[in-house]
Amino acid sequence: MKVYGTQDIRTLSVIGHGDAGKTSLVAAMIYATGATTRLGRVDEGTAPTDYDEEAIAHKISLNLSPAYVEVQGKKINLLDTPGYTSFIAHARPALNVSEAALVVLDGINGVEVNTEKAWDYANEFQVPTFIFINKLDKERADFGVVLGQVQMTFGRKCMPLALPIGREKDFRGVVDVVKLKAYEFDEKGQAQEVPIPEEGRGFLDEAREQLIEMVAESDDKLMENFFESGTLTDTELEAGIRKAVATRNLTPIYPGSSLTMKGIVTLLEGVSDYSPAPQDKNSEAPAAFVFRTISETFGRITILKVKSGILKSDATLYNENKSVSERLGPLHTILGKTVEKVTEAHTGDVIAVSKLKETVTGDTLCEKLSPITFPPINYPEAALAYAIVPKTRHDEDKLSGAIHKILEEDPQLHYERDEQTKEFLLAGSGQQHIEIVVERLRHRYGVEVELHLPKVPYRETIKASVEVQGRHKKQSGGRGQFGDCKCIFEPLPRGSGFLFEDKIFGGAIPSQWRPAVEKGIKDAAARGYLGGYPLVDFKVQLIDGSYHSVDSDDLSFQMAGRKAFKVAIEKAHPVLLEPVMQVEVVGPQDNSGDLMGDLNSRRGRIQGMDSRGTQQVIKAIVPMSEMLNYPQTLNSITGGRGTYHMEFSHYDEAPLHIAQKIIQQAQAEGRVKKDEED
Ligand code: GDP
Repeated sequence: MKVYGTQDIRTLSVIGHGDAGKTSLVAAMIYATGATTRLGRVDEGTAPTDYDEEAIAHKISLNLSPAYVEVQGKKINLLDTPGYTSFIAHARPALNVSEAALVVLDGINGVEVNTEKAWDYANEFQVPTFIFINKLDKERADFGVVLGQVQMTFGRKCMPLALPIGREKDFRGVVDVVKLKAYEFDEKGQAQEVPIPEEGRGFLDEAREQLIEMVAESDDKLMENFFESGTLTDTELEAGIRKAVATRNLTPIYPGSSLTMKGIVTLLEGVSDYSPAPQDKNSEAPAAFVFRTISETFGRITILKVKSGILKSDATLYNENKSVSERLGPLHTILGKTVEKVTEAHTGDVIAVSKLKETVTGDTLCEKLSPITFPPINYPEAALAYAIVPKTRHDEDKLSGAIHKILEEDPQLHYERDEQTKEFLLAGSGQQHIEIVVERLRHRYGVEVELHLPKVPYRETIKASVEVQGRHKKQSGGRGQFGDCKCIFEPLPRGSGFLFEDKIFGGAIPSQWRPAVEKGIKDAAARGYLGGYPLVDFKVQLIDGSYHSVDSDDLSFQMAGRKAFKVAIEKAHPVLLEPVMQVEVVGPQDNSGDLMGDLNSRRGRIQGMDSRGTQQVIKAIVPMSEMLNYPQTLNSITGGRGTYHMEFSHYDEAPLHIAQKIIQQAQAEGRVKKDEED
């Protein structure tokens, strides 16, 4: 493939709500430029950027997927991103390496929840935006209505640069507001010029006038010219649009249909004409940022954005994050499953390599003598965790390797072992996210797992002080066992853990065996009492004891310690402690009453409210056990607009009726093990 210079490279993230038609649009663009001989379709599993089995099975895009088209001597890199709530954050690494964003809207549904999220991301990354209003071939699709909605939500700087000809089934062409030309499209998306229809002429004139005024306003020089002549020349207008787009003062809107190939080439030309080129840094040392890793069964593909210099095939670069050198191997352009070799890639381009060993998403490759690292991409934290349990021994053996490959690909996923509950927890952005991972484990790696709600790491403690004796005596055929200790057990404040004090003066117990008493008590405490949960926040003072010159040994004193614990706990008023979370919920103000009511019903204590723009922030303290199914409720109350964040705050005594239920369940599950001795 041909090498493109920086001036002829564009990189756009294709973002928006799920189902708006992002993947279909990318397929349509590829088809319109003649790179494929037929139109790839999402519903047939043939869309170029929907290439993994799970994506095709779900008919949705799951991940950031790169493609490109060649238009008017330019290479336009297109980063197709998923729009479903669970996956919307995958738009972030794409936006991080894009010079512009193409926001796709459904011509019937208009602005949807994740259109707004995608828009917010584009603002956060400060990239210029384009809007494509798709599906105008469909019944009830209405460009005018959606346009109004877009301007209401995102402001008047969103302006149509093309208007549709015909509507619904009869939608057949567009009028270019800038060039004042009308086109109809054949089934391959190719344009034939037609006379501008009389119908809608008024709307066209008005749109053009507004565009000229807005462009003039965004530049002092143009404003002067506009005042002198009452309008702008075509050259001034086009240059003005380019500048207004680059400075984020104008968002061009285009109408079309990806399925019937209408308006696709107009959009492509618009993007090619008006989106900004990357900053030219070709004279600097080469550096590239890794924004996506695809772990296929056959190997790892690393996708890079060239941030400066010219990257050459087979070059050796330095990974500053991992402090290793990596040989690039051949450079490839990537379009779904199709790859093509190129000899070099200039600043701004997106390129794939397949030979990197240590480099992962978020790393920077550079020259060792000009070290640099680009900041990694931030993701919203995981919203929901499940415990995963392999179905068979065979699955267990293969699980960890498979999970790590998936983690490499998906930086939004977290996997860790909970020390207390011993469970393996898989945390992601939502139910669907986790389910897709489970499917991928089965599909790609042949590993079967089950999902469970995670166990809550309860604990136990005591509320009263007691003095007890722990005496262990065993007489068998040969040598016996003997250990005897006297201890005071007393409660400590929350978070103190376990404290042991040796208070014996003299030789009631020889000093080499006293640690054995501590060990016995510690072991017993780890196994708990009420529900088999570890006992914490207590102190033991060893005050007295006795021993036998022949029968006593380390083990005997451990047993004595266990006995002491057992006697003590029954008298010391044991209680169950539950983990409590600090929760912050952000949702539309209209829902705040329902959100608070719901938190109250989860035994939550509201601590404060705050407004953030049109959003309400609610802070509360809620027991962890009540939050396990929160994402589902939050979604249904807020219609998907709410988000939340929580972190561990402290342990609190569980109310009696709750504690009883948990203890009963723990006993039913056989968690509570009595000492073998008794
Ligand atoms: P994405 O989730 O935004 O990538 O959306 P897809 O490209 O997967 O499209 C979602 C659904 O809408 C698929 O069934 C497409 O066939 C359909 N679709 C996409 N574009 C159009 C269009 O222009 N017209 C019609 N009628 N359907 C479309």
